[in-house]
Amino acid sequence: MSLPADYHMHTPLCRHARGEPEEYVRHALKLGFKEIGFSDHAPMPQDDFDNWRMNADKLDEYVAKIRRVQKDFPQLTIRLALEVDYLPGYEDWIRKLAARHPWDYFIGSVHYVSDSWAIDDPQKLSEWQHRDAGEVWTVYFERLAKAAETGFFEIIGHADLPKKFGHRPSHDCAPLYQKFLKAAQKNNCAIELNTAGLRKDCLEIYPSREILQLAFQTGVRITFGSDAHAPEEVGMNFAEAVQLARSVGYRECCRFTQRKRELAPV
Ligand code: ZN
Ligand code: FE
Ligand code: FE
Ligand code: ZN
Repeated sequence: MSLPADYHMHTPLCRHARGEPEEYVRHALKLGFKEIGFSDHAPMPQDDFDNWRMNADKLDEYVAKIRRVQKDFPQLTIRLALEVDYLPGYEDWIRKLAARHPWDYFIGSVHYVSDSWAIDDPQKLSEWQHRDAGEVWTVYFERLAKAAETGFFEIIGHADLPKKFGHRPSHDCAPLYQKFLKAAQKNNCAIELNTAGLRKDCLEIYPSREILQLAFQTGVRITFGSDAHAPEEVGMNFAEAVQLARSVGYRECCRFTQRKRELAPV
């Protein structure tokens, strides 16, 4: 199996990842990757928005760090990207970020279903006790569809993140998934197979087989990401992710160079 690019990995600048980019690169090379991409948590306009992303004044340092490994490891294709939070009202901020550097791609992620609650934040886990899972799913997928419609993102991150801690809605969510996936297809937005879910309580790749199957039927393209927050997480469970993608029918995935898409075999 040739490995698809790992397009989702972090750096310590986001304050909750460990290991320098060079260590991620060395691990990728050891596993036989030909291409990877760093996509650390983008800053928000207010540095105190939360405590798990880089501060705005670290953005240039982030780019310099990635440029450094690109230079030091010419045998590996290394993409420069960001994982950008999508919240309604932050469109101008995202536009500004996009204009700052010649990014290869943006991963658009919804972590926030309101301005103050990131559903995947372990420090806010108790908030789930006051929430109805079905309502969270509804708001989450509506935001995901909006994110796809902005056209800001080449990739939508971990498309069913609300399952992280094992919470599940009781109603059938297929209509929510369909609406999001149609928006993604229309706006040339790929979704990622994110293997971090296998390391969380849900014990599943993001997104589920059900969503991935619908995505394939809807004509939505894919990428792969480990969401590594430590060097040894690079490429984790990629064999499983590739098998899942192939089992629903995918034979191609996307690569991005300065926001231009190419297809590669899976
Ligand atoms: Zn993170
Ligand atoms: Fe994320
Ligand atoms: Fe991430
Ligand atoms: Zn992530």
